[in-house]
Amino acid sequence: MTLRPAPVNHGIVFRRSDLPDALPIPARYDNVVCTRLSTVIARADAPDIRVATIEHLMAALHANGIDNALIDIDGPETPVLDGSAAEFDFLIQCAGKTEQDVARVVIEVLRTVRVEDDNGAFAELRPARAGFALAMSIDFTAGAIGHQRHAMPFTLDRFRQEVGYCRTFVERKEIETLQKMGLARGGSLHNAIVVEGDTVLNPCGLRHPKEFVRHKLMDAVGDLYLAGHTLKAGFMGHKSGHGLNNRLLRSLFSSGENWRLAGQTARNRSEIHAAA
Ligand SMILES: [Zn+2]
Repeated sequence: MTLRPAPVNHGIVFRRSDLPDALPIPARYDNVVCTRLSTVIARADAPDIRVATIEHLMAALHANGIDNALIDIDGPETPVLDGSAAEFDFLIQCAGKTEQDVARVVIEVLRTVRVEDDNGAFAELRPARAGFALAMSIDFTAGAIGHQRHAMPFTLDRFRQEVGYCRTFVERKEIETLQKMGLARGGSLHNAIVVEGDTVLNPCGLRHPKEFVRHKLMDAVGDLYLAGHTLKAGFMGHKSGHGLNNRLLRSLFSSGENWRLAGQTARNRSEIHAAA
């Protein structure tokens, strides 16, 4: 996978470099075609040409304020790396970023939008006076996870210190089911936390006691960037994952009264400075 600079108004766009005739796929909520295990995008006119598991990279791009980038990828899934956004964030830092000559645009949420699942899960966006803030809670019967909550204002420093390094997780009983379906074949203790009841099976344990909910919050940072711009809003999620996060954006954009584009003059749009 290669991250390349891109001009103003380009957005975050993926390109399948192993399929030279394939058209680029903009990372937008309305190109999301599957949310079962990860966020998967494809064009409506080529639904079989997919890029899966974009959420951790999208989170790192969002946190670094990258509005424009072209991402070449030679297969159907982004590299999972350690299961967090830390390595993507590190590579973007290494490449550096450039301020572009146009005022940055943000999506301002004008009224509360909420979506729910019948298991009590919900995701909500509310109007905010300034900036973007997120709160997430989870509730698992597995004792190692349990009930956890995390909230933070969305800044690059807070992202790095609190959520960027937090890894994805799976319960051991799910792994067999996934592998029977031909999924998660590359999954291992090197790219996910594996939990069995009260026990974390990874020999080195957790990176933070609340790593689980913090990862879920990081997923939301990535998924919500498929709005196409960053948000001026408050996000609140309970047991929210890729499916609800996507439904939330579809609900937000279903009415022009829910949102508007607003200029953000303090920071300009950024592109990746060099290929990462
Ligand atoms: Zn994730």
